[in-house]
Amino acid sequence: MPAITNHMPTAELQALDAAHHMHPFTAGGELAAKGARVITRAKGVWLTDSEGNQILDGMAGLWCVNIGYGRPELAEAAARQMRELPYYNTFFQTTHVPAIALADRIAALAPGDLNHVFFAGSGSEANDTNIRLVRTYWALKGKPSKSVILSRKNAYHGSSVGSGSLGGMAPMHAQGGLPIPDIHHINQPNWWAEGGDMTPEDFGLARAQELEQAILAHGEDRIAAFIAEPIQGAGGVIVPPSTYWPEIQRICDAYDILLIADEVICGFGRTGSWFGSQTLNIRPHIMTIAKGLSSGYQPIGGSVVCDEVASVIASAEFNHGYTYSGHPVASAVALENLRILEEEDIVGHVRTTAAPYLEKKWQALTDHPLVGEASIVGLMGSIALTPDKATRAKFAAEVGTVGLICRERCFANSLVMRHVGDRMVISPPLVIQPDEIDILVSRARAALDETYTALKDQNLLTPAH
Ligand SMILES: *Cc1c(COP(=O)(O)O)cnc(C)c1O
Repeated sequence: MPAITNHMPTAELQALDAAHHMHPFTAGGELAAKGARVITRAKGVWLTDSEGNQILDGMAGLWCVNIGYGRPELAEAAARQMRELPYYNTFFQTTHVPAIALADRIAALAPGDLNHVFFAGSGSEANDTNIRLVRTYWALKGKPSKSVILSRKNAYHGSSVGSGSLGGMAPMHAQGGLPIPDIHHINQPNWWAEGGDMTPEDFGLARAQELEQAILAHGEDRIAAFIAEPIQGAGGVIVPPSTYWPEIQRICDAYDILLIADEVICGFGRTGSWFGSQTLNIRPHIMTIAKGLSSGYQPIGGSVVCDEVASVIASAEFNHGYTYSGHPVASAVALENLRILEEEDIVGHVRTTAAPYLEKKWQALTDHPLVGEASIVGLMGSIALTPDKATRAKFAAEVGTVGLICRERCFANSLVMRHVGDRMVISPPLVIQPDEIDILVSRARAALDETYTALKDQNLLTPAH
């Protein structure tokens, strides 16, 4: 049997893929009929596909390739570690140097007294850990009734049964019996879509105060924690009004509940600080990390835990852990990734160079007839597509129809930009340079122009009433 390689014709690879590979978040039959795009290699911010196209990756993979593709140092760190100690567990009173060193580094980078790391293989696993951590914390403190976790509609916290329940994605809850008990969702601070006649500031306050109302409705003695992404990523890069987080922090301080910041996207430089909590001035008790922790070169995540919670958890046996908690190869690669982020001052590059440059160009897209608002913090941005800016109208067509057309026009222009409903989102590698930002934005504009023409031709420019 011949080996399957990059040199096979695209159609053959697609046929094999369709025959045996089940894709995440995909209608399999539909994909099998048209064939998946095959990516063969990548360098910096550039992907190459099996047809030889050079595609600008405006999504950093799935929000994760912070240092960009093709850094040989990470390959070498993995090879070195595999030769020395490819695997050992951290159960049963054992440890190893990669996990020790990575936990030490994360504790140094994390704000406040977030000094303790429980490792997982992914963001989903880390959020499952968080569910058990916060409930166990309160049980050990003699308050087992504090088991309810509050989250937000349209939040994304992962795809396992636990983390998918924490998330607020209705299509996910519709499959497989989610959410698990004692998880409740308040509304998100999406002013563009839901703010009506309110000012963004008033709306931000009102949405934050839903947290207080939920705490009072359930009773403070029932609430374990509130979990939120500092800036919602997969929900459409929803940048909250400036009033939102200060009010959330006030409420978390006023009641005896834990705050979990899901930093899986915002962490490791994405917002121009090491963590989104620093950019937005939040003081969480626990942070979820993954994605940018290893720049996606290895699957690894974790929960970064404050002194108080860690000391209570340490007072008993925590019956929880993963075979790959603190995996030595993943830890060694993550450590090398953090070294590069620090020594090359990539977070500083985001803050002082890339983000200000992109913000100006991104905001300028609002002169396009299809673009309502453009939001951006650091290197995560979104634009809302609309048939009528003045009224912030939605399209009459089913939600996502227009977004999907635009995404396909982006691909046709060799740009990866994702759609969430009828919002387009970007999250490029943090190492992106100004000349590459120029290419990103000009391709986005070309895709928007082609989308506009397609909508006119198909009579899709009609607003919903
Ligand atoms: C991607 C993501 C997760 C889940 O991480 P996985 O590694 O895919 O399990 C959790 N939270 C946020 C905010 C994410 O963006």
